[in-house]
Amino acid sequence: MAGERLRDGYGREISYLRIAVTDKCNFRCVYCMPENGVPPRAHGELLTAEETARFARLVAGEGIRRIRLTGGEPLVSNRLLPLMRAIRAIPEIEDISLTTNGALLPKLAPELKEAGLDRVNISLDTLDPAQFGQITRLGRIEQTMRGIDAALAWGFTPVKVNCVVVRRLHQDVFGLARLSIGRPIHLRFIEYMPIGDEGGRDLVAADAASGESGELRPEQWDASDTVPSAELRERINAAARAAGLSDLEPLEEADAPSGAGPARYWRFPGARGTVGFISAMSNHFCSACNRLRLTADGAVRPCLFSDEEHSVREALRAGDDARVLDIYRAAIAHKPGEHEVIAGTARAMSQIGG
Ligand code: SAM
Ligand code: SF4
Repeated sequence: MAGERLRDGYGREISYLRIAVTDKCNFRCVYCMPENGVPPRAHGELLTAEETARFARLVAGEGIRRIRLTGGEPLVSNRLLPLMRAIRAIPEIEDISLTTNGALLPKLAPELKEAGLDRVNISLDTLDPAQFGQITRLGRIEQTMRGIDAALAWGFTPVKVNCVVVRRLHQDVFGLARLSIGRPIHLRFIEYMPIGDEGGRDLVAADAASGESGELRPEQWDASDTVPSAELRERINAAARAAGLSDLEPLEEADAPSGAGPARYWRFPGARGTVGFISAMSNHFCSACNRLRLTADGAVRPCLFSDEEHSVREALRAGDDARVLDIYRAAIAHKPGEHEVIAGTARAMSQIGG
């Protein structure tokens, strides 16, 4: 019934939709995108802002309450602002968030504010400028740091900073966690996941710089590259002690930043921000999964880790709302109970909407 939250076959209420606004990006992160970017799309393959907004309106009637706009890099798409304004006008939607690499945030923050954005997650995997260039291939660290400043200055709350940890990149995770001490920044360490195939992941560029290329198997996701969150927290605590700080303290769920989702949060004593861990690999949070994804070309994806997709594009184009909802409900009914640790997915993260 419209307005009620739709539940999947495992009793989970589906209330959170992640929309990939585009699969293009101004960066080419080694764990996410091939060096030359994703293949260009034929005109008309991607949903327009109006079509995506129509989908959002329909599924708001089925219980979606929170929407995240992601990609690819959502800030490079001219569909983003019209889409955000249209979503803001949907009364049932309580929260609009954005995941971005931050490079274009200083320029676009005022318009995003005006369009109704509530909060942002910004990706930052390292504080070392050279390593930042190696990981993102096209990015400069100052851009993302200015993006974080802009997010704080424009009052998007909370500001979360996402860091994907890959063992062979040897990132300074304590340095990143420390950002949470002086400012209200919520660091979230994400376990590296096997998303995309050889076209989607290429750690060779970053690894060549660390001088370990002899051990590389760049076409295959390597489980040893995932650093389990418990190990990571121990690493951060050990570095904190060496620097004369206390260990991270666990936070009650009620004290976690809003939209906490699957992250578990901790805090350095007295810090203004927090440190979260997202353990999709070492500790599945499937039983609490309330999300669905919509790809930029109009496919509903019940699970990040499964290639099963249900396209609503033609039904949207035909103006057949009943059919759109049938497909949406079928996608929810197919949401798996839990995900396997798989060897990869056909689409790269940038194409799914990470
Ligand atoms: N371009 C935006 C950004 O980088 O924030 C939004 C899209 S990006 C695909 C969304 C998130 O997915 C980023 O935080 C990124 O670091 C993360 N991500 C990409 N590939 C990943 C992988 N293989 N494992 C874990 N996280 C990944
Ligand atoms: Fe672009 Fe984000 Fe993927 Fe990096 S993680 S290549 S910024 S979509």
